[in-house]
Amino acid sequence: MSEKNFCLIGHPLGHSISPELHNRLFRLSNMSAAYTLEDISPENFKSRLDFLKTLDGFNVTIPHKQRILPFLDEIDSRARRFGAVNTVKCENGRLRGYNTDADGFLRALKSAAIELRGRVLLCGAGGAARMMACEALESGCSLVVATRTADNARTCVEDLGKLFPGADIMATALSGACGEFDLLLNGTPAGMYPNINSCPVSDRVVQKAAAVFDAVYNPGETVLLKKAQANGAKVQGGLPMLVWQAVAAQEIWTGAHFQNDAVLKICGEMEELLKTRYSGGAESGDRS
Ligand code: NAP
Repeated sequence: MSEKNFCLIGHPLGHSISPELHNRLFRLSNMSAAYTLEDISPENFKSRLDFLKTLDGFNVTIPHKQRILPFLDEIDSRARRFGAVNTVKCENGRLRGYNTDADGFLRALKSAAIELRGRVLLCGAGGAARMMACEALESGCSLVVATRTADNARTCVEDLGKLFPGADIMATALSGACGEFDLLLNGTPAGMYPNINSCPVSDRVVQKAAAVFDAVYNPGETVLLKKAQANGAKVQGGLPMLVWQAVAAQEIWTGAHFQNDAVLKICGEMEELLKTRYSGGAESGDRS
């Protein structure tokens, strides 16, 4: 079997663990494949498209998740709704775009027995937050979107209102968030290495959340998760989401299937890898 070739494109790519993660998954499914990092600046993006078409597939991260859209031959319905692509399958020079972040998010919640239901507080209004908002609204949740200044939350709520007419969505500032929530979702980088002591919301809000999901995956257990767990809430961190979105990408690329236990073992291995990599004071510019 000839070796297949995949990569991650983004800029800057920092100390991404994607090669280790994908190569580990390829080994698990006995695939002969290589996964590399391709740091492509926005200025060089167009000139690298011919190279990308020679691959079997690639992942896309900041700042290219939207930039790639006009160059795709087909876009899956979920990726179209988020307006962002993180996985591309290449076949005979044709490019088909997907978004597997939502698969990662939903499977991470499921593996922590956290239900996407009821009253949800979403911190952030960027790419990850908007994906989580769509999934929460799709599941019939009522949603409060909170950002540092309420302006960005308002813009996000307006956009969501167009996608989900009649949905129960409100905007607020993070400092003004209050009340009881069935689920608190963090889609901000607050708590991410190296700012590991920061938390997106006050203790008062954390105490009233029955479950918490934090998209931050470095560190594996953020201050937000520690506080919520001490309070008896169900918690899940971002690393399982990162691993499950990679699993979903490989399912698209190769048709492979992975057992739950094997994926959980890889989550543990990736957490150890991150700890080793960052204990020496690596840069914070990590990208999935
Ligand atoms: P993004 O598009 O840049 O959005 C970041 C959001 O967070 C913005 O809404 C911003 O809103 C807010 N924000 C920025 N700095 C903040 C701070 N210090 N305190 C509070 N809010 C802040 O980023 P993204 O791609 O969505 O990523 C967000 C986080 O999710 C990152 O930590 C990223 O690593 C993580 N992520 C994880 C996965 C995974 O697989 N686990 C996948 C994607 C992303 P305002 O400026 O309006 O406040």
